[in-house]
Amino acid sequence: MTDDTKKPGKYGRVMLKISGEALMGDQGYGLHPPTVARIAHEVRSVHDMGVEICMVIGGGNIFRGLQGSAQGMDRATADYMGMLATVMNALGMQAALEAEGIHTRVISAIRMDEVAEPYIRRRAVRHLEKKRVCIFAAGTGNPYFTTDTAATLRANEMNCEAIFKGTKVDGVYDKDPKKFPDAKRYENVTYDEVLQKHLGVMDASAIALARDNDLPIIVFSLDEPGGFRGILAGEGTYTRVHG
Ligand code: UDP
Repeated sequence: MTDDTKKPGKYGRVMLKISGEALMGDQGYGLHPPTVARIAHEVRSVHDMGVEICMVIGGGNIFRGLQGSAQGMDRATADYMGMLATVMNALGMQAALEAEGIHTRVISAIRMDEVAEPYIRRRAVRHLEKKRVCIFAAGTGNPYFTTDTAATLRANEMNCEAIFKGTKVDGVYDKDPKKFPDAKRYENVTYDEVLQKHLGVMDASAIALARDNDLPIIVFSLDEPGGFRGILAGEGTYTRVHG
């Protein structure tokens, strides 16, 4: 398939995936409130366009299962800790979005009714129709997965038209652009190339799930002010991963 780019400005419903590390600013750990507020502002500018927004935020700024298991903890327990970290990030983002005047729901894959709604697919769809930003927390609810896979799963379930993966660089490069000045950015790349060349867009399970459901992944820089809105309006640079 060639680039069947959904015409910019025509997105009805999207998934924004950001890593936990995107929330920590220069701190090296945890949440940096001005950074969370800046991202919330970016999300608001897209919400103002009338786009329905789903979000998944990682947990790597607080805890990663692999770190825990490398230190001798059993992997499943460490992964549950990672999933709980994503709930903290989701609540932080919810507060920042509400400060922007946006209605939100945090929807958790692990029940914790006092802090977040349980995940009920039809209910989440209804929230989106009412223009509430849905922040899907606790990953898939299962150990041995990542929040990239959770974002792909929920994007499919919510019928999102694309996953927007906000990163520190403006797309997918053939090598690390921070280390190699001659690194080349792909405009378009296929799921299979991403897997074969280990391009590191998302983990292999997430890419395979996107490929099997023909869900495009748009990799863009979240550090660029106005970048998210710009990409949805068809401006700026990004890489589109497709079939
Ligand atoms: N995690 C999990 N199952 C999921 C999603 C996440 O077990 O469905 C755990 C896993 O330990 C992971 C951690 O939660 O390391 C944080 O998620 P991730 O590493 O994807 O965060 P990011 O790198 O995006 O900040």
